[in-house]
Amino acid sequence: MSHPILRSAARSRARFEPGSRLALGAVRITSVREAAVPIASDIANAYISFAGMTVSTVVVVSDEVRAGKPVVGFGFNSNGRYAQSGLLRERFIPRLLAADPVEIADDSGENVDPGRVWDQLMQDEKPGGHGERSVAVGVLDMAIWDLAAKIADRPLHRLLAERYGSGDPDDRVFVYAAGGYYAPGKDENALRDEIKDYLERGYTAVKLKIGGAPLGDDLRRVEAVADVTGDSGCVAVDANGRFDLRTALAYGERLAPLGLRWYEEPGDPLDFQLHATLSESYAPPLATGENLFSAMDARNLLRYGGMRPDRDVLQFDPALSYGLTEFLRTLEVIRSQGWSPRRCIPHGGHQFGLAIVAGLKLGGNESYPDAFKPFGGFADSTPVIDGHVAPCESPGIGIEEKSDLYAVFQPLLDNN
Ligand code: MG
Repeated sequence: MSHPILRSAARSRARFEPGSRLALGAVRITSVREAAVPIASDIANAYISFAGMTVSTVVVVSDEVRAGKPVVGFGFNSNGRYAQSGLLRERFIPRLLAADPVEIADDSGENVDPGRVWDQLMQDEKPGGHGERSVAVGVLDMAIWDLAAKIADRPLHRLLAERYGSGDPDDRVFVYAAGGYYAPGKDENALRDEIKDYLERGYTAVKLKIGGAPLGDDLRRVEAVADVTGDSGCVAVDANGRFDLRTALAYGERLAPLGLRWYEEPGDPLDFQLHATLSESYAPPLATGENLFSAMDARNLLRYGGMRPDRDVLQFDPALSYGLTEFLRTLEVIRSQGWSPRRCIPHGGHQFGLAIVAGLKLGGNESYPDAFKPFGGFADSTPVIDGHVAPCESPGIGIEEKSDLYAVFQPLLDNN
């Protein structure tokens, strides 16, 4: 594993000359370090294998010093989209390093304002056509929120509740076990054992992949999982955008009588007409959104996708979709279209999502008991109990409290 390091050019910039900034006490970003980390595995969903999957990791270093060390923010890009080293190095990290500390300071002048940082990152970027730029920006946005919460000496979920909510975050968050992937040689017995294991580890709801096998085989897999859980209402299925309308309807017809927890991403995430047509005949809950990367995409889904606010589930992943800063705008869209934030159960299974869900009182968070380690999962001290996880109480996102994930960032810290 290599860990290329990007060092700040900030010291050579005239705008960072001592004096102009120090008088105001604004926090300066002194360096940003980035590395692409492999999370390859032999699992597959209906659309992709994860054999070559990578994740971007960043450490944003500030000149704020606590206990003799610079305060740093950690960011990574969830899973399902590849590392964004090129975009990060060519555009977004240079913009962050070039930002005037005063321009990215909050109103107190003593912390960074993630929204103002976001504006700096996105300068000279046209709207629309998001591509994977939203992933690159999301990585940095996560690190900036981690940094801002640490400078404020608050766990991120508490900072969010105080800033955007009633002040009281949820003290535990519903999580479901996302698994049931296809894998070489994995038969129905292995699937049953996997689901049993999740239940023994404290989960009460599970999800399995569909669409990577013929309909009859998939139905047997779904029924096997429902049999293990004892309640098909605890079972969600995920087609990962694989189906055309005809196939989505055919699966829907056979799945509907089972009363599943939800039927996820039946068709292409941008085919809103497909979702709208399916929702006319499929009465139980549908879920989608993990591959929609902006507030505007969310608006279009709710406008044209036939999504039903009384039952359907929205899965926008803040890490993949321009970060929490954009996700706050997405939540405004959701509210303005008559939806409760409780209908949001973000994709990604990461600590950032958990903090956001608890702080903003969303409906729950994905969890990967076994996949995408160490980026999936939560603090070592917060096990799954009765299908719920408590957010971490250390300042920031709490990545330091998840030892396997913190170890990934360690090489980027050695030169602090
Ligand atoms: Mg999914």
